[in-house]
Amino acid sequence: MEFKDLSLKQIIAEIKSGKTTQKEVCDYFLARIKTLDPKIEAFNLVRDVFEEKDIHSPLAWVPIGVKDVFSEIGVETTAASKMLAGYKPPYDATIITYLKEAGFSSIGKLNMDEFAMGGSGENSAMRITRNPWDTTRIPGGSSSGSAAAVAAGMVPAALGTDTGGSIRQPASMCGIVGFKPTYGRNSRKGVIAMASSLDTPGTFTKTVEDAAILYEIMAGYDTWDSTSLKEPTVINPAIWDKKDLKWVKIGVPKEYFIEGIEKGVQKEIDGAIAKLRELGAEIKEVSLPHTEYGLAVYYIIMPAEVSTNLARYDGIRFGHTHGGGADIAMSRSEGFGKESQRRIMLGSFVLSSGFYDAYYRRASLVRELIKDDFKKAFSEVDIIVTPTAPSVAWRIGEKVDDPLKMYLSDVFTVNASLAGLPGLSLPVGYSLPEDGGTTELPVGLQILGSELGEEKVFEVAHVLEQAMKEYVNSKKPSTF
Ligand code: GLN
Repeated sequence: MEFKDLSLKQIIAEIKSGKTTQKEVCDYFLARIKTLDPKIEAFNLVRDVFEEKDIHSPLAWVPIGVKDVFSEIGVETTAASKMLAGYKPPYDATIITYLKEAGFSSIGKLNMDEFAMGGSGENSAMRITRNPWDTTRIPGGSSSGSAAAVAAGMVPAALGTDTGGSIRQPASMCGIVGFKPTYGRNSRKGVIAMASSLDTPGTFTKTVEDAAILYEIMAGYDTWDSTSLKEPTVINPAIWDKKDLKWVKIGVPKEYFIEGIEKGVQKEIDGAIAKLRELGAEIKEVSLPHTEYGLAVYYIIMPAEVSTNLARYDGIRFGHTHGGGADIAMSRSEGFGKESQRRIMLGSFVLSSGFYDAYYRRASLVRELIKDDFKKAFSEVDIIVTPTAPSVAWRIGEKVDDPLKMYLSDVFTVNASLAGLPGLSLPVGYSLPEDGGTTELPVGLQILGSELGEEKVFEVAHVLEQAMKEYVNSKKPSTF
């Protein structure tokens, strides 16, 4: 059986009905990893540890990939940094505990930008993951390995984290579903920290329903995370039977349709919006007036928190040690890559006395205005849609020497992160890159919900997914 063509839900059903076994599923994916990963380089670690378990658990022990940022007891977890090479956490992240209780089997650690900082995967100290649609291109980032592994059918689903777009953007570039819930829904305990007021664990899957299955298992209160939310996380199963979007109001923010979006991307996004209208949704222009400040605010608040979180890696308490450990500066310059060092310096600067008011404080105030924009818009509409990224996947190496250019690719994802809102990227078509590339590459639509509005996001995404399936599949280039 070709499990790569089945959803997580379908594979679980196959196991439960006795049509296949856990072992068969596990061997299938391990074999696929063995043949494909030398080309894609998505994995930092593959765990070939099969154990027959109870098939009646919700996930029936289907293998799932884990971004190399989630602590798993005794399993090397590096955040793709030399700083943490060889580190074996003494405990599980809360999310891993919840998944284990539901019958989850971790098949390995997936590559990423170092400490989740980046948008292409190229900041990894371990390897450069390639986009399965065109292996000369980046898969997006920072969850580069997670997106590439699901897209290449090496795992049916994978875990990721999204701080400013690191699930939605690579999902868009790899043509799969990427989902992050409301900030605080998923516990951050045991997830190696980047920027604590933004970090949000989530998933990569083939279908919207698979994202919801994992969400219901992963989300929930955790006494170990003071920002964790207590609100119920159940999704009404009736949404999966919906066929239209009558009575749904969808906002299209005018500030997101800017110059600089690739024409082919714009065309596919327009097509998806037309489809939403055809499905009965009322499409309404909305305004998020502070959108243009999002990137500036994000690239002040995020490095401030990065510099604080990464201070613990001094070679004494945690992390790579130079020589005997006395020279902390050497330990840190050997352990951290260029981008991490850049952000630590930026963060220390914006927090330093004399500059704090001008940068960090002001950015925090503008962050509130961005949140208010969304609140106001969501008093008029149920859902907001935008492109996930302004372009399709670019060539490996194209933006590595130009950090600003790299940061600009986050323009559509950071604002929802600053506001802590749930978001999903849904594949809606393919487009030729404008750099002369000859392979059509995936385009994602970003579907944003209001705070705690996950169910509506899933409903709209699912109805659109079903309605666009035929179109998306028919345009699919037969790359692999
Ligand atoms: N690309 C963004 C950055 O470089 C987002 C990273 C993330 O979400 N982890 O910060």
